[in-house]
Amino acid sequence: MTHPSIIAIDGPAASGKSTLGFKLAETLGYLFFDTGLMYRAVTWLALQRNVNLKDEAAVTDLAHGVPIEVTPPSLEDGRACDVVVDGHDITWEIRRPEVDANVSAVSAYPGVRQALSEQQRRIGMRGRVVMVGRDIGTVVLPEADLKVYLDASSDERARRRHEENLSRGQQSDFDEILAKVIERDRIDTTRAVAPLKPAPDALILDSDKLSAEQVYQQVIALCRK
Ligand code: C5P
Repeated sequence: MTHPSIIAIDGPAASGKSTLGFKLAETLGYLFFDTGLMYRAVTWLALQRNVNLKDEAAVTDLAHGVPIEVTPPSLEDGRACDVVVDGHDITWEIRRPEVDANVSAVSAYPGVRQALSEQQRRIGMRGRVVMVGRDIGTVVLPEADLKVYLDASSDERARRRHEENLSRGQQSDFDEILAKVIERDRIDTTRAVAPLKPAPDALILDSDKLSAEQVYQQVIALCRK
């Protein structure tokens, strides 16, 4: 039995892509690669260095030079991997609200996308990989053996983020999260380069109607076919 070697998972924020991708990779013994963290790392670095986020050339330079190290988790604090930039462990910092608020604008810059998607493609083409993002099936790895587009309503996705925050003991305002999810979707789906959309040959799953386990069972069954 041969499993698909390159698996692409795309979809909007908080649709369950990482949960699905991580579990698939674990079961198949593949590399799990979350491309969102690269866009987040560039955004974090720009904020850290006080680079004007509206200065496309300066942000693009950062994306070309940023040494992002992604390694297996060194701590058992819920992380899937360690993300290190410039010697800083930024695994949790890249999830902070100021990164959330700016990452879609940074990732709309064509030069930033080119720099990061070239690296992603090199990693993906080695095979035995589950790559998660917004444009993996359409742009980064259009030759993927299996493409999944995981969707869910904005209400459901905001509800999940809200509950995640509360379970971590963080303050959380549902309406504020919903507004931010809608704004991030708007930027991601309307940008000129590599907008978020399903590849024509993607399996589209709606996780409003399916539990994480049901989504996983459907996709692993396809992998085993
Ligand atoms: O998946 P995550 O929410 O961490 O992604 C953060 C942001 O990075 C997305 O909202 C999107 O703007 C950008 N992104 C992208 N292309 C990818 C992965 C993420 O544009 N392949």
